[in-house]
Amino acid sequence: MTGNPPIGSHWARTGGQPRIAVIGAGMSGIGAVIKLEKAGYTDVTVFEKTGEIGGTWRENRYPGLSCDVPSYFYQYTFAPNPDWSHRFSYGPEIQAYLKRTAERFGVMPRIRFNAPVTELRYEAPRWHLRAGDGEAEVFDIVIAATGVLHHPSVPDFPGLDDFRGTAFHTARWPENLDLTGKKVGIIGTGSTSAQIVGAITDQVARVSLFQRTAQWIHPLPQKRYGERWKGLLRRIPALNRAAYRGVSFTIDQTFVRATLGSPVMLRYLAWMCRRNLRRNVPDPELRAKLTPDYRAGCKRMIFCSTFYPAISKDNAELVTAGIDRIEADGVRTADGTLHELDVLVLATGFKASNFILPTRVIGENGVELGSQWDGIPRAHRATTMPGFPNFWMLEGPTGPVGNISLFMISEQQIDNLILSLDEMRAREAVAMAPRQDAFERYNADMARAVRGTIWFTGGCNSWYLDRNGVPNIYPWAPRRFRREMQNPDFSEFRFMRDEAEAIAADRAAAVTA
Ligand code: NAP
Repeated sequence: MTGNPPIGSHWARTGGQPRIAVIGAGMSGIGAVIKLEKAGYTDVTVFEKTGEIGGTWRENRYPGLSCDVPSYFYQYTFAPNPDWSHRFSYGPEIQAYLKRTAERFGVMPRIRFNAPVTELRYEAPRWHLRAGDGEAEVFDIVIAATGVLHHPSVPDFPGLDDFRGTAFHTARWPENLDLTGKKVGIIGTGSTSAQIVGAITDQVARVSLFQRTAQWIHPLPQKRYGERWKGLLRRIPALNRAAYRGVSFTIDQTFVRATLGSPVMLRYLAWMCRRNLRRNVPDPELRAKLTPDYRAGCKRMIFCSTFYPAISKDNAELVTAGIDRIEADGVRTADGTLHELDVLVLATGFKASNFILPTRVIGENGVELGSQWDGIPRAHRATTMPGFPNFWMLEGPTGPVGNISLFMISEQQIDNLILSLDEMRAREAVAMAPRQDAFERYNADMARAVRGTIWFTGGCNSWYLDRNGVPNIYPWAPRRFRREMQNPDFSEFRFMRDEAEAIAADRAAAVTA
C-alpha cells in the first residue's frame, strides 16, 4: 500500500491539484470528469468495473430499450445534441451520445477499464482505494458515480434452476438472442417489461406476461425529428437549450406536482392513464385485469404507447394467477396451469438500496458504510455522509428520482461538489464531512415531508421504498434541490484544517460509532 503523501504538500494549501477518484464511467462519472476539468480540477482518475463506458445504457440491451424522459432534457447542458432522432431516445442512441461526449471532452484516457473498486478505506485525511486485486492507491477525494439501478433483483423463485430454456434478467439480455417463433414468458410489469412486450410481441410465437401488480401507464407521444429541424438546432443551439428548459418546466408543472400531492395533477394523470387503457385495450376482461388498485403516481409512472396494443394481441396473454414454481418446461401458476416457455425473461427490477455497495467503504474509525446504512441508505442532501470525509455520491440515496432527468440532477450535484472543493481550498482544509446533527435534522425533515407524497400515501409497493416501507427519495420539488445544490450551507459541515485535526476527528468517531 502506498503511504500518505506529506501533508505539507496538501493541495488545499499549495494551490495544487487534489487527486480525485471517480468510481463508474456512466452518465454521472463522465459528467463529473468534464465539469471538474472545466472548474480547474484536472487530476481525475475514473475506475470502471467493465470494459466499456455508459453505465445503465451499456448494461441494458433489451429489445425496445428507450428513455421515457424527452431527449432534449435527457442530455448534458454542456453538450446539447441537435441530432436526437426521436422525441424519446432509444437506448443505443443514448449510449452513442455518452461515448461521443466522453471522447469529445477527453474523458477516455482518464478511465481505467475492468477496474472494479472493491475497497475504499479512509485514513485521515485521504482515501486508500483498491481496485480488483491491485495495490491500494491514495486519493484526496472520492466520488461514487455508481448509479442507482444496476444490481439486478432476481427473486428466489422455486425451481428457477430447473428451467430447460433460456432464463435471464433484463439487464443481462443475451447478445444475438433470436426470439422469432419462441414462446416467451416475462415476469414483472415495470417500465422495462412494458417496453419489451411492446417490442417483441409481433416477432414471437407467444408472450405470457406474469403480472403481480397492474400499472398506471401514460401514453408516450413518440415522434421522429426531421432533418430540417435538426439543421435548425445545429444553427441555433439556443433552441436546444430552450427545449431543455421547456421540458423541465412542463415536467415540473405536471408529474412533479402530481407526485408531491397536487390533487388536480393526480386526477389528470389518472384520467390520462385510464383513457389510454380504454382506447387501446378493447377487451373489458383484460382491461379489468390491467386496472391498478392503488393511486396513480405511487410507483414510477410508466410512459409507453406500445404495451397496451401488444398485450391485446392474440398471441399475448396476461397471467394474473400467482407464480407457484418454475419447472423444466415453463412457469406453473397457483391455479395449477403450466405456461410452457422457451425463454423466461425476469423483468423483476433492481436492488435499489445498494448504491455503491457491495464495495467496502470504510470511513472514520473503521465504520463501514454498509453497516451504517443497514439496509436503509441515507445521505446528507443526497451527496455526503457524516463519518465519511471527502466522499461524495452522485445519484446517491434520497436524491430526486422518478419521472425526471437524472442528467439534470447529476449535474447539479457535480456543481455542488465543485463548490465544496473550492471552499476546502479557500479554507485550506484537508477534509470536510457533514456534521452529524445537520445530517439528522435534514433526514428528519425529509422523513416528515415524504409522508405527504403519493409514493407513501398511494397504497403501493415500489422500489422507492426502503425496507421499512418509507420512500427513500427526495420529497420536495427538484427546483428546491437545485437551490440546495447551488447554495450550499457550509455551516452544516466539519472542515478539518490539518492532518492532526483530521486524525483526531477520525479517532473521535470511535466514541459515537
Ligand atoms: P420495476 O419497476 O422495479 O418492476 C419490477 C417488476 O417485477 C414489478 O412489476 C414487480 O411486481 C415484479 N416483481 C418483482 N419481484 C417479483 C416476484 N417475486 N414475483 C412477481 N413479480 C415480481 O423494474 P423495471 O421495470 O426494471 O424498472 C425499474 C426502473 O428502471 C424504473 O422504475 C425506471 O426508474 C427505470 N427504467 C426507466 C426506463 C425509462 O424509460 N426511463 C425504462 C426502464 C426502466 P410488483 O409491482 O408487484 O412489485
